[in-house]
Amino acid sequence: MIKKIGILTSGGDAPGMNAAIRAVTRTAILNEISVVGIMAGYQGLLNGEFNPLTGQSVRGIIQTGGTILRSARCPEFRNVEGRKKGIENLKKEEIDALVVIGGDGTFRGANELAKEYDIPIVGIPGTIDNDIYGTEYTIGYDTCLNTIVSAVDKIRDTGSSHNRIFFVEVMGHESGFIAMNSGLACGADIILIPEQKNQLEKTRHFLAERARQNKSSVIMVAEGVKEGTMAIAEKMKVEFSQFDIRVSVLGYIQRGGSPSARDRILASELGVEAVHALITGEKGIMIGRLYGKMRYEPFTTAIKLHKCADAEFLRIAESIGTYTPTD
Ligand code: ADP
Repeated sequence: MIKKIGILTSGGDAPGMNAAIRAVTRTAILNEISVVGIMAGYQGLLNGEFNPLTGQSVRGIIQTGGTILRSARCPEFRNVEGRKKGIENLKKEEIDALVVIGGDGTFRGANELAKEYDIPIVGIPGTIDNDIYGTEYTIGYDTCLNTIVSAVDKIRDTGSSHNRIFFVEVMGHESGFIAMNSGLACGADIILIPEQKNQLEKTRHFLAERARQNKSSVIMVAEGVKEGTMAIAEKMKVEFSQFDIRVSVLGYIQRGGSPSARDRILASELGVEAVHALITGEKGIMIGRLYGKMRYEPFTTAIKLHKCADAEFLRIAESIGTYTPTD
């Protein structure tokens, strides 16, 4: 029987992580399980940085971005010796089970630990990238999209006043989810994503078409696009000198801010389910939400089947956004 749960947030922070911490803590306490917050992800586990969490300590955090438990990257946890140190600290603290909130790296770490030691671990997907298999959405993704939409709406005001072409770079090293969905929501004219080839050629073709219209445009670019946002923009400035081309890199504003209602709800649902899963003896799984239902995805598949941008979705986004002769 589980008496004490340890909870940590790891990897890139995401808005809504606090709502998940709150949900886990409250549900555990309701089920007479005590909760210990492990500070700064796996680093805190190795350093023995533990703080008890109570109903009181998770009050007033549902609306805050970032994570009250802090997050960190911990190279030492990738080694057997590092993880051994972590498990010894858990034993000392009498922690029976772990809830880890993070992205695929965090689940990789949890999976290694679960393979080596018999400790129940349940994961909650918390990353703005939405690239985890087994869940339709990850915590933080919706807030990130909303932040981009409000930023791009403002950029557009300048773009249309000065007839400029804006390259807007958004996050997404390996995945174009953020670029695709924010591009659709912002009415971007084209969307450049890492999953597709020849993004320079695509831009060139678009601008050649645009030259006949001389209208302002938004080109949404995921940061992981092979050719690089800056390099594409510089080349286009030379080739299409008739356009006033600018680049706006949105950067870290995409990670921060108060979580959207949708992220708060998702985080709460996943947090509650994580505790129930542990109580019913589940281990080595991530809690996901798919087709409106909660589901348990084994860490092994959540980390292996990396979710990629959907070509069909991109076609929809572009067929609405891209210039047509009837514009
Ligand atoms: P995210 O969880 O957002 O994908 P990272 O990829 O940085 O973030 O992973 C977070 C942490 O998880 C790393 O700093 C490391 O401690 C741990 N981790 C990542 N990959 C592994 C792995 N293959 N084995 C053990 N631990 C890992």
